[in-house]
Amino acid sequence: MAPAARWPGDARAACAFTFDLDAETLWMARGVREPVALSQGRFGPVEALPRILELLKVAGVRASFFIPAWVAEHYPDSVKAIVAGGHEIGCHGDEHERVSELDAAQEERILVKSLETLTKLAGRRPVGYRAPAWQLSANTLGLLARHGFDYSSNFMDRLTPYLHPPVEGATLVEIPVSWVLDDAPYFLFTGTRSLEPPGAVLQGWLTEFDGINEAGGVTNFTFHPQLIGRPSRLACLRELLEHVRHTPRVWVASLAEISAHWRKAAAAAR
Ligand SMILES: [Zn+2]
Repeated sequence: MAPAARWPGDARAACAFTFDLDAETLWMARGVREPVALSQGRFGPVEALPRILELLKVAGVRASFFIPAWVAEHYPDSVKAIVAGGHEIGCHGDEHERVSELDAAQEERILVKSLETLTKLAGRRPVGYRAPAWQLSANTLGLLARHGFDYSSNFMDRLTPYLHPPVEGATLVEIPVSWVLDDAPYFLFTGTRSLEPPGAVLQGWLTEFDGINEAGGVTNFTFHPQLIGRPSRLACLRELLEHVRHTPRVWVASLAEISAHWRKAAAAAR
């Protein structure tokens, strides 16, 4: 019997453009209250997001946006603009708290709050979860299953999606990530390291994309509007979008679409 097709149609690999709209919470979670530091976060929803949505529209790409509940509450128009653009919205904590430091009850309270907040603003229930800073607790997967999530996008162990072992009577899809495909290690100024030039970072991402395509995997780009939204980096994002959508046999989709496909393909292969 021929093995089940891994990707739709004749696609040999998949690619997703994902954005974590952290705004001020990235700094708040580190105890920062200083106004200028926080203003770096505000740049995301206020200045960068409209330009990113325009680039995605021109490229015809449906992306996935992970939004802390605090950000959704403070920038409801941003959430509405993302939804109006046809993009997916996923959960990303409340104030970007470190999930690995929460007890189960606190973690569940935050998860429920973020589900309720995003569902109300987006008009549909999120199916995906990305933990702030990609740090999980021992309870996270069980809580996601209990609250009806379809997928997690947090682990770094594979190039292809996979199914987690059943927990709380449900099976979650994992769509893996990597620091290599994240803009923060290159573009987040911490005061102790210098920033990378966008051209060199773009070259690295293109090479990684080619390699993942050869392996038949999913290139899961993770961007932060407050970082990728500077003009020099937006130019890099525009070039990346052009390159990806002109690469033959690559399925560009949201993580929700990739998760649904993977679950169906896994069931068919059984
Ligand atoms: Zn984040």
